[in-house]
Amino acid sequence: MQREAMPVDVLFVGGGPACLAGAIRLMDLIQSHNAAIDAGGAGERIAEPTIALMDKGSEIGSHAISGAVMDPRALDELIPDWKQQDPTFVERYVEEETFVVLTKTMAFPAPMMPPGMEDHGNPIISIARFQKWLAAKAEEKGVMLFTGFAGTQLLWEDDKVVGVRTGDKGIGPDGQPKSNFEPGIDIQAKVTILGEGPRGTLTRQLMNRKGLDKDSQPMVYEIGVKEVLEMPPGTVKKGEVILTLGYPLDLNTFGGAFIYALADDKYAIGLLVELGAKDPAMDAHYLLQKLKAHPYMRKKLGAGKVVKYGAKAVTVGGWASIPKLYADGAMIVGDSASFLNPARIKGIHLSMKAGMLAAETAFESLKRGEATESVLKAYADRVNGSWIREEMEPSKNFHAGFDKGVLGGMASVGMSLVFGPGKDIKPFDADYHHMRKTAHVHGHKGYPERDEVEFDGTYIVDKLTDVYHSGTKHEEKQPSHLKVVDREVCATQCAEEYGNPCTRFCPAQVYNMHFNEATKRNELHIDFSNCVHCKTCDIRDPYQIISWVPPEGGNGPEYGVM
Ligand code: SF4
Repeated sequence: MQREAMPVDVLFVGGGPACLAGAIRLMDLIQSHNAAIDAGGAGERIAEPTIALMDKGSEIGSHAISGAVMDPRALDELIPDWKQQDPTFVERYVEEETFVVLTKTMAFPAPMMPPGMEDHGNPIISIARFQKWLAAKAEEKGVMLFTGFAGTQLLWEDDKVVGVRTGDKGIGPDGQPKSNFEPGIDIQAKVTILGEGPRGTLTRQLMNRKGLDKDSQPMVYEIGVKEVLEMPPGTVKKGEVILTLGYPLDLNTFGGAFIYALADDKYAIGLLVELGAKDPAMDAHYLLQKLKAHPYMRKKLGAGKVVKYGAKAVTVGGWASIPKLYADGAMIVGDSASFLNPARIKGIHLSMKAGMLAAETAFESLKRGEATESVLKAYADRVNGSWIREEMEPSKNFHAGFDKGVLGGMASVGMSLVFGPGKDIKPFDADYHHMRKTAHVHGHKGYPERDEVEFDGTYIVDKLTDVYHSGTKHEEKQPSHLKVVDREVCATQCAEEYGNPCTRFCPAQVYNMHFNEATKRNELHIDFSNCVHCKTCDIRDPYQIISWVPPEGGNGPEYGVM
């Protein structure tokens, strides 16, 4: 098949803060370099650089979801006068912060925020609008933006990454080209920078082929589910942030919740739950509804109406999970490389800084005309010499502490605050190792009855209503992008041992067990068009037989304001 080839100097894969900050930084460096040479300095101009950034969403920000209260440290470095540049992404600045411990019926406000969680004065942002704002800056500087293009394959020349192949469009469910078939293109790049977010497809191809994670701990995740609620006018307290611990999670399940005051009479509420939860029946969307039904939440938010929903895996292994960050021709940035501080549940600033350091390395590589591993190694050196390490290394054993349960984790955090984190990184397992069989957790096959929350369709909503609120759309006539290698396991072994946890852990009701009259048993049915691209199934499936691969570019959620 003839494919169009597009040569570029540097290709950023992913339209998140890491790649956008990197692209802006790279253009700034090239422009200053060229200006210095034009003014009589030594060296050669980098003439007409082609810097491209691709994203699988229909537009930049359409797949973006985060809390988010941002630590502006990296943005201050990238665009020092950002506050004067119409920062449309800022909802509010934090004015009032509360930390609350919830039991099933009670709420106990703590006298202070836990160390490192204070955010007074920081901006509460819409990550989608932030990405759009950064993308406009990047475009003004000459970065070429390609949206609606999913990277499906790395391009290799011997053992060197030389770019990315985008997915074909117009393939039918039977795998055959339809009349609107368009082959993907080969974007050939001197340097490829991967910032695809958590569990990136191309990042995994690179890590697997080059063994980049052989000396680090596994990537581990929480699932974050978030809703935006429209409130009666005048009821949203300006700049308010509430963090909660406890209900609806039990002492075996790590996670927590947040409420952020937004502009235009809206609150965001979100819940994070570890994807290593032991209970196979863990259902983050349902737990979020239970949280909203708590008397404390109902009093605060009960008059609200859900208008937006989304879900995404969040990398929480921190410093311990950062893999080797470079290979011949490629570097990894952002969530794809675990740049998030789990002790603060903050990563936007770390991702941006990593993107900027990768950009500095790409700039050196362009000047030298060489993108070998020995040149790109400077990226890892830059990370190690930066404030990323200063911030992340002290919490390197945060996740390992919680690997043994919530109480053990709290004790371990307390000890490390007093005595320091210790010299060595403590090992931990990948999330899917932690799920226990239903007989172990519930004492019998299958799941216990739920203490049902009352769905009212506006404040407490079911999954399918929330899928509608996510704006998710997929071309129906294409192959499913959820690949299950052995469905027989689902109908037999998994049903018996784990009760088909995919029907619970998927926050978009993609996986359903339907009774098959012919075989007289429940079999897996996949509604892939509901998928919000959170990657939970790829991560949490106990048999590791589900793979998430990119659907046609431009498909998926339309978060817009999340
Ligand atoms: Fe997330 Fe997988 Fe469900 Fe899609 S199918 S929403 S990636 S769990």
